Amino acid sequence: MSERTESESRKLLRRLQSTLAEAGAGQERLDRITAIIGESMGTEVCSIYLFRDEQTLELCATRGLAAEAVHVTRMRVGEGLVGRVAARMRPINSADAPSERGFRYMPETGEERFTSFLGVPIQRLGEKLGVLVVQSREARSYSDDEVYALEVVAMVLAEMTELGAFVGEGAAMSARHQQPVMLTGGIGQEGAAEGTVYLHEPRVVITNPIAEDPEAELKRLKEAVDQLRISVDEMLDSAPKANAEQVEVLQAYRMFANSRGWMRRMEEDISRGLSAEAAVEKEQSAARARMQTVPDAYLRERLHDLDDLSNRLLRLLTGQGQDTGAEVPDNPVLLARNIGPAELMDYGRSLKGIVLEEGSVASHAAIVARALAIPLVVHTKGILTEALNGDPILVDGDLGHVHLRPEDTVATAFRDKMAMRAAAQERYASIREKPAETLDGTVIRLNMNAGLMADLPSLPTSGAEGVGLFRTELQFLTRNTVPKRGELAALYKTVMDSAKGKRVVFRTLDIGSDKVVPYMKRPEEPNPALGWRAIRVGLDKPGIMRMQLQALIRAANGRPLTIMFPFVAQFEEFTQARDMFLRTLESEAALGHTLPETYEVGAMLETPSLAFAPQQFFEMADFISIGGNDLKQFFFAADRENELVRRRYDTLNVSFLTFIEQIVGRCQSADAWLSFCGEDAGRPIEALCFAAMGLRSLSMRPASIGPVKSLLRRVDLREARAVINEARAIGAQSVRPAVMEWLKRQA
Ligand code: PEP
Ligand code: MG
Repeated sequence: MSERTESESRKLLRRLQSTLAEAGAGQERLDRITAIIGESMGTEVCSIYLFRDEQTLELCATRGLAAEAVHVTRMRVGEGLVGRVAARMRPINSADAPSERGFRYMPETGEERFTSFLGVPIQRLGEKLGVLVVQSREARSYSDDEVYALEVVAMVLAEMTELGAFVGEGAAMSARHQQPVMLTGGIGQEGAAEGTVYLHEPRVVITNPIAEDPEAELKRLKEAVDQLRISVDEMLDSAPKANAEQVEVLQAYRMFANSRGWMRRMEEDISRGLSAEAAVEKEQSAARARMQTVPDAYLRERLHDLDDLSNRLLRLLTGQGQDTGAEVPDNPVLLARNIGPAELMDYGRSLKGIVLEEGSVASHAAIVARALAIPLVVHTKGILTEALNGDPILVDGDLGHVHLRPEDTVATAFRDKMAMRAAAQERYASIREKPAETLDGTVIRLNMNAGLMADLPSLPTSGAEGVGLFRTELQFLTRNTVPKRGELAALYKTVMDSAKGKRVVFRTLDIGSDKVVPYMKRPEEPNPALGWRAIRVGLDKPGIMRMQLQALIRAANGRPLTIMFPFVAQFEEFTQARDMFLRTLESEAALGHTLPETYEVGAMLETPSLAFAPQQFFEMADFISIGGNDLKQFFFAADRENELVRRRYDTLNVSFLTFIEQIVGRCQSADAWLSFCGEDAGRPIEALCFAAMGLRSLSMRPASIGPVKSLLRRVDLREARAVINEARAIGAQSVRPAVMEWLKRQA
């Protein structure tokens, strides 16, 4: 960046600052601002477009375009170049605007005379406010410096309080904040909580976006970043080493805190005239805008980590620590757009519940919430607009419901539910050591699903017999690079050690479809759920699977080992994968490693095709585990992630149950043991019907073991089967109504 442009942009900011400090009506000031920017940048036009509502922008001030067009010209997001800047929240710089794709000429503005166009978003921490545009007659492309300078100016504009008067929405907000509201989100962690709203981010107020003395600001930034690095190092030092996920997240923090690129961008912002905190916020805004457009879930998570770190830095710079907001109330329920795992760990177990406006089920924060057993609802759209600090709130993590300022009747019903849940937990604890034995003497083995070290402490307390599904992909999904064989072996060893001799079924890497690993190049696929995933990837790229098999064999170190391959659709895939395992056993033996004393190799049945595989398949497999989540979506051809169809077909549909029954028969005929490890196994009525169809092993989330066991111990499976058969005989679509009716009669 040249000295000249640097001081030019500082001069421009100083002029803006004095305009902002002067009195005057909002419109007058906007007009003056467009004049100053246009003059300083040597462009004929400077215009400010602001959002009127979520989809509409309005020309609110201009120098250079027709004055009559102000507050008249409107465009939709995505429409014309201005609309495209708003849609993408990224600058558009064109020397020949009329020939750009999507150019739309607004005749009332007289803009046809202007050839070149530069538009940048006006945004504040992911909140879209508008678009700032300069245009010139001559066909020139604006330099990177100019683009940058305009972005800095847009940042200062975003801090102007009077923009709020122009940006639409908001007027009716205060009345809205009195009413009870029920919002629905996604289930992040089950459980129920009653408490008081505590907003994670009371807005950090930046009172000085423009700074006089860049040297002093650079020094402030450097000191704050140094402090930040020290605190991240301290967090890393004190993080329990066994918690690999937590350590990994903190390592990502350290990487960002030491990132030269991040630092350099902020230093440049400062040399252009921004204060240190405004520079941090500008980079944070840009990262948030990127976050909304990045399709890759893993990269989005990394951007959240950066966001988390920026918040910490802002608090260090402004001194507005967590104590500047409201006092932390008793029974706090934390509300945030997103929260980083480190911040969540700072709050720790003091929280009663967590509600996120965004977030995701697979995010690091969700992993931490689960490990701390705090009810969490994610994707709760609107919660941050609706909630105020101190509002009473009920969080139903089982259903993904959030009640803000609930009516008394709702609160009472909710408290009843919590009391029933507490009583049920006591009941479950009392049968923890007892088998899931039905009244007719059939014993169903109940196992738990796991995927993280943090899940394993539940093994002794849940009443599970072992781990029926260990999803190994989580270690691959939560890091930047392929994990090393040694690391995996150490992790699998800890898993086996904590299982204390109970069987753990390790599923080999199940990636693809919705599980995206950032360091593996993946083809663009029209339909990833039907695409290159799970065993298909494992067989085509055997390196990773072989490394995983070696790690498992070394971790077992002589102990029994159980592995299964995901998403096997035909016999040959199983024989190939099994051969790979057998060859790995040989090569490990040759390297001097102790082989497992016994081993079992199974397949997941997740596509209907495998149920019709040759008899030899069932004879070769030691066991089969039905991956009901996938099997059901392919059986009914209904996407498990698509809200429009995913609940359309009942698991207790006669066709599906009959299909399960046939699989039971095939496994029995070949003496392969059979389990069911999809989510439905953890739903008591479903579990009962599967048992009635002949399943003798089910694997589920730890919290489901109690409810499932409790129901199974109260029923006679022969009667259940008779009820199901009767419903089938009369042509029922689902056996659910008949089974429910029968259960009611039992009570
Ligand atoms: C399943 O498909 O049922 C299963 C257990 O695998 P996942 O949910 O991990 O795809
Ligand atoms: Mg599956």
